[in-house]
Amino acid sequence: MPDTPNAPPSTDFYAEYAPAAPSPALPRAPLRLSCVVPAHNEEANLPHFVQALAQAVGQLTPDFEILIVNDGSRDGTHEVALQLVENSGMPLRYIALSRNFGKEAALSAGIDHARGNAVLLIDADFQHPLELLPQMHQLWLGGYDMVYGVIVDRAAEHGAKRVGTSLFYRIMNSGNAVKLPPNAGDFRWLDRKVADALKSLPERHRFMKGLYAWVGFKTAALPFVPLDRAAGASSFNLRRLGSLALLGLTSFTTLPLRVWSVIGGLVALMALFYGAWITVETVLFGADLDGWPTLAAGIMLFSGVQLMSIGILGEYIGRIYDEVKQRPSYLVARDEDRSPLREDAHD
Ligand code: UDP
Ligand code: MG
Repeated sequence: MPDTPNAPPSTDFYAEYAPAAPSPALPRAPLRLSCVVPAHNEEANLPHFVQALAQAVGQLTPDFEILIVNDGSRDGTHEVALQLVENSGMPLRYIALSRNFGKEAALSAGIDHARGNAVLLIDADFQHPLELLPQMHQLWLGGYDMVYGVIVDRAAEHGAKRVGTSLFYRIMNSGNAVKLPPNAGDFRWLDRKVADALKSLPERHRFMKGLYAWVGFKTAALPFVPLDRAAGASSFNLRRLGSLALLGLTSFTTLPLRVWSVIGGLVALMALFYGAWITVETVLFGADLDGWPTLAAGIMLFSGVQLMSIGILGEYIGRIYDEVKQRPSYLVARDEDRSPLREDAHD
């Protein structure tokens, strides 16, 4: 993969899914773009960002809407967004979720309410470069149904986050049918087809990075270097990233279950041989009280292994329980619609 920003698109990760070169341009209907901006405590960024976004998108098409999804912010995001919707004259729609449901749910809410024939997912903190939009647009016109940004420079992130991320992708992609392109984020351009496919997936706990890969379609990757956050602080600390990783793993791989079956099998086999050996030893040399340490160590080892595997089973069962309850993945508390785009305008 090229390691310069804004280099030509790469389809390396998706060699199985995407052709090496864009196919001849599709006769796409004129672009009507829905921009989904999840916002959690972004009062300082939102006005500038929406302005900049509207300007960048305005170069591509006059028909667009910007959906601000307020994901239960605790700062003044709500007031700032309402103010924008009322007074800015921009084609905005403001959707306030009833509490903080997490970025994945906020994105789902945006995708569910988007009405354009293409949907752009972009962070509110200026980390996703707006300069990439024309390229994404071109690739979409060239026949790609999903164009996503791939972070090429994680050097700016601290060690633990980097190591954890790389470990996560390694486990995720080991022997899994759906490969997650490493370092692909939520900076995406989706065709209506892809947005509809994502909407049709019924699961409640949505690990979006996995779902994008799962739905497939013709996909292109655009490398980019994330810019520094314009204002405010990242909402993702290590604990939150860890829980997102766990959601990803339990939603998209059964490898952890399999690992314990294998370890269990190996340990049981060892115990069998050991038992046979003890029998032989007792028959040949008689029994004495030796071996207590072995026994104690054995008991500890086995109970440890069992507890751990029960814990992992529990993670999956918990996930099943959550899905069975069928609660929606988000609730909308307020929906202020000043968007000119209409549903029936679909091609
Ligand atoms: N975000 C959200 N809900 C959350 C956390 C984050 O909607 O619970 C939004 C946030 O406002 C931003 C985007 O998701 O627009 C990315 O979040 P952040 O910058 O905190 O994450 P990072 O860039 O550090 O991964
Ligand atoms: Mg950010």
